[in-house]
Amino acid sequence: MRIGVLALQGAFREHIDQLARLSVDAVEVRLPKHLAGVDALVIPGGESTTIRKLMTDYKLIGPIGSAIKGGLPVLGTCAGMIVCAKRVDGEEVPGIGGLDVELRRNAFGRQVDSFEADVDVPILGTQPFHGVFIRAPVVESVQPEVKILAQLKDGRIVAVRQGAVVGIAFHPELTDDDRFHRYFLKLVKEAHPVTSAAW
Ligand code: GLN
Repeated sequence: MRIGVLALQGAFREHIDQLARLSVDAVEVRLPKHLAGVDALVIPGGESTTIRKLMTDYKLIGPIGSAIKGGLPVLGTCAGMIVCAKRVDGEEVPGIGGLDVELRRNAFGRQVDSFEADVDVPILGTQPFHGVFIRAPVVESVQPEVKILAQLKDGRIVAVRQGAVVGIAFHPELTDDDRFHRYFLKLVKEAHPVTSAAW
């Protein structure tokens, strides 16, 4: 199994390290040709406007968008989730798609309002996940085909899945807890039952 990690800007190194700890072959994706042979794509946190601009400059929007339509599993964390969302801050955003959700960026405030909180994520078991929220978005509404994976105590949605596309408002790659990455790898394995048989 080979996982591409979009390495244009943001916390891509941390995802690569987390995947390496799980003995997964992770490769940096900067150009369309780097998508060849990857079984899935991780889009890291960072600054979504910058990531989207660089994806446009490097002509990645089209190839990633059609790969997602074809079933490419994607894990988007924070800014990575934002670039997969169809609507952001009340506007339709042309982009790679993947998540039929409406998001609000910087929903908790600015950098100084970053925080950590234990989040219940039922699909990962009963032990809460320690969420690191850095200028994090929230999901304000979801279309019926989107599954909600996690909500804060006040009901705000902070993790979703649509098919094999997973979006998380916080940063599992900044913790030692690898349950979200393992959950994603399971989805990748299901999506590619033949190529990942040896994994
Ligand atoms: N606030 C950032 C954005 O809107 C996301 C922050 C993050 O990825 N940690 O792009």
